[in-house]
Amino acid sequence: MVLYPKEEFNKVSDINLQFLKKNEIKALILDLDNTLIDYYKNLNQETIKWVNNLKNEGIKLYILSNSNKEEKVKKIAQELEIPYKCFAKKPLKRSFWQVKDELKQESKNIAVVGDQIFTDILGGNRCNMFTILVEPIEKKDIWITEIKRPIENFIKNKYRKEKQKKEKNNVLQ
Ligand SMILES: [Mg+2]
Repeated sequence: MVLYPKEEFNKVSDINLQFLKKNEIKALILDLDNTLIDYYKNLNQETIKWVNNLKNEGIKLYILSNSNKEEKVKKIAQELEIPYKCFAKKPLKRSFWQVKDELKQESKNIAVVGDQIFTDILGGNRCNMFTILVEPIEKKDIWITEIKRPIENFIKNKYRKEKQKKEKNNVLQ
Protein backbone atom coordinates (compact mmCIF):
# COMPACT_ATOMS: atom_id res chain seq x y z
CA MET A 1 0.00 0.00 0.00
CA VAL A 2 1.65 3.17 -1.24
CA LEU A 3 0.07 5.29 1.51
CA TYR A 4 1.33 3.12 4.37
CA PRO A 5 4.66 3.76 6.06
CA LYS A 6 7.09 0.90 6.45
CA GLU A 7 7.41 1.72 10.13
CA GLU A 8 6.00 4.16 12.63
CA PHE A 9 7.52 5.98 15.60
CA ASN A 10 6.22 8.54 18.02
CA LYS A 11 9.03 11.02 17.40
CA VAL A 12 12.31 11.17 15.49
CA SER A 13 14.46 10.60 18.56
CA ASP A 14 12.78 7.20 18.99
CA ILE A 15 14.39 6.02 15.73
CA ASN A 16 17.45 4.33 17.15
CA LEU A 17 20.67 3.15 15.59
CA GLN A 18 19.88 -0.48 16.19
CA PHE A 19 16.70 -0.16 14.13
CA LEU A 20 18.54 1.61 11.32
CA LYS A 21 21.28 -1.02 11.24
CA LYS A 22 18.81 -3.88 11.26
CA ASN A 23 17.08 -2.39 8.23
CA GLU A 24 20.34 -1.44 6.49
CA ILE A 25 19.46 2.24 6.48
CA LYS A 26 22.48 4.45 5.90
CA ALA A 27 20.83 7.80 5.29
CA LEU A 28 17.74 9.67 6.40
CA ILE A 29 15.78 12.21 4.39
CA LEU A 30 14.09 14.29 7.07
CA ASP A 31 10.99 16.43 6.85
CA LEU A 32 11.22 19.72 8.76
CA ASP A 33 7.84 21.08 9.88
CA ASN A 34 6.26 19.11 12.67
CA THR A 35 8.93 16.43 12.29
CA LEU A 36 12.08 18.23 13.46
CA ILE A 37 10.51 21.50 14.62
CA ASP A 38 7.09 22.51 15.90
CA TYR A 39 4.74 25.11 14.46
CA TYR A 40 6.62 27.83 16.37
CA LYS A 41 9.95 26.75 14.83
CA ASN A 42 11.27 25.32 18.09
CA LEU A 43 13.94 22.67 17.90
CA ASN A 44 14.17 20.64 21.10
CA GLN A 45 17.33 19.40 22.81
CA GLU A 46 16.35 15.78 22.38
CA THR A 47 16.20 16.17 18.61
CA ILE A 48 19.57 17.97 18.51
CA LYS A 49 21.16 15.18 20.55
CA TRP A 50 19.59 12.54 18.30
CA VAL A 51 20.90 14.23 15.14
CA ASN A 52 24.42 14.53 16.54
CA ASN A 53 24.44 10.95 17.71
CA LEU A 54 23.40 9.57 14.31
CA LYS A 55 25.92 11.77 12.52
CA ASN A 56 28.67 10.46 14.80
CA GLU A 57 27.63 6.93 13.91
CA GLY A 58 28.02 7.68 10.21
CA ILE A 59 24.35 7.98 9.27
CA LYS A 60 23.90 10.63 6.60
CA LEU A 61 21.14 13.17 7.14
CA TYR A 62 19.38 15.54 4.79
CA ILE A 63 16.47 17.93 5.31
CA LEU A 64 13.90 17.91 2.52
CA SER A 65 11.10 20.41 3.06
CA ASN A 66 8.12 21.53 1.05
CA SER A 67 8.33 24.90 2.77
CA ASN A 68 8.90 27.99 0.68
CA LYS A 69 10.42 29.81 3.66
CA GLU A 70 14.05 29.25 2.84
CA GLU A 71 15.38 31.34 5.75
CA LYS A 72 13.57 29.15 8.24
CA VAL A 73 14.78 25.88 6.68
CA LYS A 74 18.33 27.20 6.32
CA LYS A 75 18.50 28.32 9.95
CA ILE A 76 17.60 24.87 11.28
CA ALA A 77 19.84 23.10 8.77
CA GLN A 78 22.76 25.28 9.79
CA GLU A 79 22.10 24.73 13.45
CA LEU A 80 22.08 20.97 12.94
CA GLU A 81 24.86 21.14 10.34
CA ILE A 82 23.06 19.08 7.77
CA PRO A 83 22.34 19.87 4.11
CA TYR A 84 18.85 20.93 3.07
CA LYS A 85 16.54 21.50 0.17
CA CYS A 86 13.29 23.46 0.29
CA PHE A 87 10.41 23.94 -2.20
CA ALA A 88 10.64 20.17 -2.54
CA LYS A 89 7.16 19.52 -3.94
CA LYS A 90 6.88 16.20 -2.12
CA PRO A 91 5.34 13.71 -3.07
CA LEU A 92 6.80 14.38 -6.52
CA LYS A 93 9.81 12.17 -7.07
CA ARG A 94 12.23 14.71 -8.47
CA SER A 95 13.57 16.19 -5.24
CA PHE A 96 13.93 12.74 -3.69
CA TRP A 97 16.09 11.64 -6.64
CA GLN A 98 18.21 14.79 -6.35
CA VAL A 99 18.84 14.14 -2.67
CA LYS A 100 19.53 10.46 -3.34
CA ASP A 101 22.26 11.49 -5.79
CA GLU A 102 23.81 13.79 -3.22
CA LEU A 103 23.65 11.13 -0.53
CA LYS A 104 25.24 8.59 -2.90
CA GLN A 105 23.13 5.76 -1.53
CA GLU A 106 20.77 3.18 -2.98
CA SER A 107 17.05 3.85 -2.46
CA LYS A 108 16.70 0.81 -0.23
CA ASN A 109 19.35 2.20 2.12
CA ILE A 110 17.55 5.52 2.49
CA ALA A 111 14.66 6.17 4.88
CA VAL A 112 12.28 9.05 4.43
CA VAL A 113 11.09 10.38 7.79
CA GLY A 114 8.09 12.65 8.14
CA ASP A 115 4.74 13.37 9.75
CA GLN A 116 2.60 13.47 6.60
CA ILE A 117 1.22 10.57 4.59
CA PHE A 118 0.51 12.49 1.37
CA THR A 119 3.90 14.14 1.09
CA ASP A 120 6.63 12.28 3.01
CA ILE A 121 5.31 8.71 2.99
CA LEU A 122 3.76 8.72 -0.47
CA GLY A 123 6.86 10.33 -1.99
CA GLY A 124 9.30 7.98 -0.24
CA ASN A 125 7.29 4.90 -1.18
CA ARG A 126 7.08 5.98 -4.81
CA CYS A 127 10.88 6.16 -4.85
CA ASN A 128 11.19 2.71 -3.24
CA MET A 129 12.77 4.17 -0.15
CA PHE A 130 12.12 2.95 3.39
CA THR A 131 9.43 5.17 4.95
CA ILE A 132 9.02 6.14 8.59
CA LEU A 133 5.98 8.01 9.84
CA VAL A 134 6.26 10.06 13.02
CA GLU A 135 3.51 11.77 14.96
CA PRO A 136 3.33 15.52 14.30
CA ILE A 137 5.10 17.36 17.16
CA GLU A 138 2.26 19.86 17.49
CA LYS A 139 -1.41 19.59 16.83
CA LYS A 140 -1.18 22.99 15.19
CA ASP A 141 -0.49 23.02 11.43
CA ILE A 142 -0.58 25.41 8.53
CA TRP A 143 -4.10 25.43 7.01
CA ILE A 144 -3.28 23.31 3.97
CA THR A 145 -1.96 20.56 6.21
CA GLU A 146 -4.86 20.81 8.64
CA ILE A 147 -7.29 20.06 5.82
CA LYS A 148 -5.49 16.78 5.15
CA ARG A 149 -5.29 15.55 8.74
CA PRO A 150 -8.70 13.82 9.02
CA ILE A 151 -8.08 11.66 5.95
CA GLU A 152 -4.51 11.02 7.13
CA ASN A 153 -5.83 9.88 10.49
CA PHE A 154 -8.26 7.56 8.72
CA ILE A 155 -5.40 5.95 6.78
CA LYS A 156 -3.21 5.76 9.89
CA ASN A 157 -5.92 3.93 11.81
CA LYS A 158 -6.44 1.52 8.95
CA TYR A 159 -2.68 0.89 8.75
CA ARG A 160 -2.44 0.29 12.50
CA LYS A 161 -5.37 -2.14 12.49
CA GLU A 162 -3.89 -4.13 9.60
CA LYS A 163 -0.50 -4.16 11.28
CA GLN A 164 -1.99 -5.45 14.52
CA LYS A 165 -3.84 -8.15 12.64
CA LYS A 166 -0.65 -9.20 10.86
CA GLU A 167 1.28 -9.32 14.11
CA LYS A 168 -1.44 -11.39 15.72
CA ASN A 169 -1.36 -13.84 12.81
CA ASN A 170 2.39 -14.12 13.09
CA VAL A 171 2.11 -15.02 16.76
CA LEU A 172 -0.49 -17.67 15.99
CA GLN A 173 1.54 -19.28 13.24
MG1 LIG B 1 5.80 17.95 8.09
